[in-house]
Formats: sequence, C-alpha cells, structure tokens
Amino acid sequence: MAGSDSDAAGRSVNTRIAHAGLHPDAFHGFVNPPVVHASTVLSPTAEDFLGRRGRYHYGRRGTPTSDALCEAMTALEGGAGTVLAPSGLCAVTTALLAVLSAGDHLLMTDSVYGPTRAFCDGMLRRLGIETTYYEPLLGGDIAALMRENTRAVFVESPGSLTFEVQDIPAIAAAAHARDAAVLMDNTWATPLFFPAHTRGVDLSIHAGTKFLSGHSDVMIGTISATEAWWPKLKEGHGLLGQCVGPDDIYLTLRGVRTLAVRMAQHQRAGLEVARYLAGRPEVARVLHPALPDDPGHALWQRDFTGASGLFGVVLQPKSQEAVNALLNSLTLFGMGASWGGFESLCIPTNPAPIRTATTWAPEGPTLRLHIGLEEPADLVADLAQALDLYRAG
Ligand SMILES: *Cc1c(COP(=O)(O)O)cnc(C)c1O
Repeated sequence: MAGSDSDAAGRSVNTRIAHAGLHPDAFHGFVNPPVVHASTVLSPTAEDFLGRRGRYHYGRRGTPTSDALCEAMTALEGGAGTVLAPSGLCAVTTALLAVLSAGDHLLMTDSVYGPTRAFCDGMLRRLGIETTYYEPLLGGDIAALMRENTRAVFVESPGSLTFEVQDIPAIAAAAHARDAAVLMDNTWATPLFFPAHTRGVDLSIHAGTKFLSGHSDVMIGTISATEAWWPKLKEGHGLLGQCVGPDDIYLTLRGVRTLAVRMAQHQRAGLEVARYLAGRPEVARVLHPALPDDPGHALWQRDFTGASGLFGVVLQPKSQEAVNALLNSLTLFGMGASWGGFESLCIPTNPAPIRTATTWAPEGPTLRLHIGLEEPADLVADLAQALDLYRAG
C-alpha cells in the first residue's frame, strides 16, 4: 500500500524518499550531506555580517545537516517547511506553544500519548491555557465543544495504547470553520501511511525517535506545517531555541532513506502476527485498525495508506502472575519503552487511570506489541509458547 501517494510529477513517495534533500553538487559530489558540528559561522566581511548575507548565521538556526533532514521531511509530508526538536515530546510541546497563547482553549483527544497530557495539565494550565479532553471518536460533533477562544484541536490517530481511529477530515473541517489549528501526533503512521496535510492537518508532528530513525538509537522530533501555519511554527521554534545535535540528525536522515522498505515489512509482519493472535483463545481482542473487524477499520481504510507494526492485544482475564510469566517467557520481544526500531517489543499497558473524557475498560490485561524486522514466523512461535504458558497459568 505504501507508495500510493504521488507528487505533482506522478512520482511515488518511494521514489521521492530516495532523493529528497540530497545536494551532492554542494558537497563535492558526495551523496550524503556532511555532519556539520557547528556553533559559530564566520562572515568574510563586516558588510556580510551586518547584512546577514550568508545562508547560515549560527549553528542553532540551521546547518547543511539539519537543512537536509528538514528538506526531506518537507518533501515527504507535503508541507511548507519542517523544524526539528530534540525529542518527540519536545516536538509536541513546541507545536502547542507555537500556536497557543494565554487565555486560549485547546481541545485534546482523550486517547493522546500520556506525556502530552501531562504537558497540558501541567505547563499549559500554568500558562493560562485551558485543555478540554474529548472523546476520540466524536468526529464532526467536535463542533459542539468549540468555544470562542478554541485555538487548536489536537488529534492522535490511532490513539496511544488503545488504537482508536479518528475521523480527522471531519474534525479538521469543524476546527477550520472556527479558525482553529489542527495539530496531529502522526508518529504511528509516519508520513508514508498518513499524508496528514492532505487530510486537513495544519501541523504534523512525529516522534522521529520511532520509525523515522528506526534503530532505537536516537531521540528526535519533527514538526511540519502548511503554508498558513509555517511562519508561526518557525517563529515559535526559534524563540524556544530548539535544535538537535548533528549526529542524531544524520542518523535520522539515514533512517528516512530506508523508511519505505522498513514500513512495508513492519506492516506485513505486524498483520501476520496480529491475525495469528486474533485466532488464539487466550486473546479477547486485537487492537489493530487494519484488521477488518476492528471498529476503526473503515476510517483507517478511507484515510490511511498503510499500517505500521504497532498494535494492542487484550487478553482474557488471568492473574498478574500469569501476565508476568507470559512476558518473561518471550525470547524475541524486548520489554521497554519506545518502538519503531528493528527489534520487536512487548510491554504491559494500562491507560485506564489517565482517561478523563472516556472510560477504557478492557476485558482483561492489555499488551502493546511492536513488530520489528524479524521473520514473522519466528515471532509467532515465540508468542505461541508464551500464550500456552498464559493459558496454563
Ligand atoms: C514516543 C512518543 C512520543 C514522544 O517521543 P520521544 O522521542 O520519546 O519524546 C510522542 N508521541 C507518541 C505517539 C509516541 O509514541
């Protein structure tokens, strides 16, 4: 499914990803940009310095290395520009601070990534910005929650840990009718599987820590914006002093070059494992929008062009000891935060206590799986022995 989104020249995203942001002529023919470690940029004359004539002025404000990644991400997202942040969470907070002011009201999906919620309840509240959490599946009915001072609507689809699919075009239409910005945490789908700006999103945010870098060795975030919101994003990002070290930028750009082939494999393997789990008696439900009987499947099929390898599993009720035994018996799935790397992960999750607008009450213990680049049959075998143990436990 990846590659179904073409640019104006009819070129697939798979083709664009191999060329975006490359300028070998500027670097003596070398294919990749140099890793520029820099603070000071020297001007040849006083006139150049005073007139800010050069392309670069200071390391924080951009280097050939950061430009290469920003240009590549802008090409993938189809936005007007991209900025980088030192983590995915920092990209979220930077985007919110760039568009919101004291006295503003924010509509935030109840299915949002936990630390994003903590930022709203902590710092945004302290700055005089009020957050209302909304039911993620309300679609165009979000219009009823809009106030005079609602300046932004935040979406994350599928939802963190719970994987609800939101009707983003409908939410965006309601937000835009009131001149509110639509911000999306698009980490799950990557720009390949959800072309956010063409679905009504003004600021598209990625924890590049996950699939973009793809090797569990980088913390980074990206934000791209449409023409209308780019000046505000660029200004806010500059005021906050955000920048990222060049080695991490370079590693992320290197990851982006192989994003299409990795995502195709994450998708294929993720679906294979999800289908296997759906057939196991110990499993009550699999939370994966690409499965036909998932409640979000129709919206996913309409708006997404693929599925990543991250999904949830609700188990039949058993003791915590049985869950622990299952997790401890896995040999190919690591237990740890984050995802999007080459290696599979499986962790226990429980978002129920942080929900405020909706109730999350699964039938039993919940797990989140990230399917890496291993052979799916080997992952299935590992899960099979773990579920046998769970049933016996
Ligand atoms: C991991 C994650 C983030 C935060 O990214 P960090 O790089 O860990 O700060 C934000 N949103 C989502 C959906 C995530 O999974």
